[in-house]
Amino acid sequence: MTDLNQTLFDRAAQVIPGGVNSPVRAFRAVGGTPRFVQRAQGAYFWDANGQKYIDYIGSWGPMILGHGNPVVLEAVQKAALDGFSFGAPTEREIELAEEILKHVPSMEMVRLVSSGTEAGMSALRLARGATGRNKFIKFEGCYHGHADALLVKAGSGLATFGNPTSAGVPPEVVRDTLVLEYNNIATLEEAFKLHGKELACVMIEPIAGNMNFVRASVPFMKRCRELCTEYGALFVFDEVMTGFRVALGSAQSVYAQLIPGFQPDITVLGKVIGGGMPLAAFGGPRAIMQQLAPTGPVYQAGTLSGNPVATACGLATLREIAKPGFFDALSARTQSLVDGLTTAAAKAGVPFSADCQGGMFGFFLLPELPHNYAKVMTSDSPKFNKLFHGLLDRGVYIAPALYEAGFVSAAHTEADIAQTVSVAAEVFAQL
Ligand code: PLP
Repeated sequence: MTDLNQTLFDRAAQVIPGGVNSPVRAFRAVGGTPRFVQRAQGAYFWDANGQKYIDYIGSWGPMILGHGNPVVLEAVQKAALDGFSFGAPTEREIELAEEILKHVPSMEMVRLVSSGTEAGMSALRLARGATGRNKFIKFEGCYHGHADALLVKAGSGLATFGNPTSAGVPPEVVRDTLVLEYNNIATLEEAFKLHGKELACVMIEPIAGNMNFVRASVPFMKRCRELCTEYGALFVFDEVMTGFRVALGSAQSVYAQLIPGFQPDITVLGKVIGGGMPLAAFGGPRAIMQQLAPTGPVYQAGTLSGNPVATACGLATLREIAKPGFFDALSARTQSLVDGLTTAAAKAGVPFSADCQGGMFGFFLLPELPHNYAKVMTSDSPKFNKLFHGLLDRGVYIAPALYEAGFVSAAHTEADIAQTVSVAAEVFAQL
């Protein structure tokens, strides 16, 4: 039988670099043919061959209600009838801003943009503009979008700043980006001692979903906060992935339960707040946010910012997930997946560790959870690839790379979880 995914992939490769519009979709890490999605509904999607999959990617996080949620769909259809884009303000932008601020009290104002990259890049500019400083810290294994200054890997020591991770990023542009090891308090303290007074911000993924699933430890998070406050640097939480995904109050609410009074200064959001449409945001205290144009000197703008159809989609999504009990049910479902996989791996004698929060999970083919990027990368990559293809062949779609997190939606049923665990048990037995 002709593989229609392969036919489409060959055709795509003629007109789109690598056949995809975002590199991870090309399956380079795991090999094989990417699935071209024909349609999706609830917890499933169907590929070009008509094959059905249980979807644990959910567009890399946004689809927290599952695909085609009827309430969201109706809101989008209604909004589309009123017009696609105006380039002028609408009441719905205020409603979405109010809804976001209601659940994330560290933010007093928020600016809507169209992608996580744009939000992260703008948050960095704002931090630099508001502090009048240029240098900043990020952590190895955290991804904050593909803006030049953020595409950086660690340099050879604390005195040297980062190296570009992409061709086309001039070394001068990353000269002020200091890349440190995640969860390492000693290097953080050392870096502040050396550069603290010149630091505009520390940017972090509080639960790093771009190295699968690695939590910032509570002592590390606490120290980041203390040092930022002491040296006048802003603490920027990149919650593009974790925002409204790990809890209604986002990852910062999880840390606030563990560290009394904890708050970041600036929060970056994306994914869930757009419900699958191009929408992202960044926000913080009024005094900082008013540094943005038109009230302040930090320039930032966008033709499609606050798009009326995207805001309708995001608003309907946030209102659904704010209903009582939503996150309890989602967390329980995710936990049951993680527990099931852990038990199945143990039965097959496969080294395995896993973690989850809300509707986000990660697992490693390692006996213990790793705490930084170097440890994540010791995961058994050939074994992961076998696991990935074993699951895929049996209709379970997880991220095609071992350094990516997974997502459970409200549309996943206990039966979906049981089916996934039973399929995984079969595959583990063959690893
Ligand atoms: N920040 C984090 C934590 C992300 O996970 C991502 C994307 O996965 C981004 C920023 C960039 O967002 P976008 O892909 O919407 O540009």
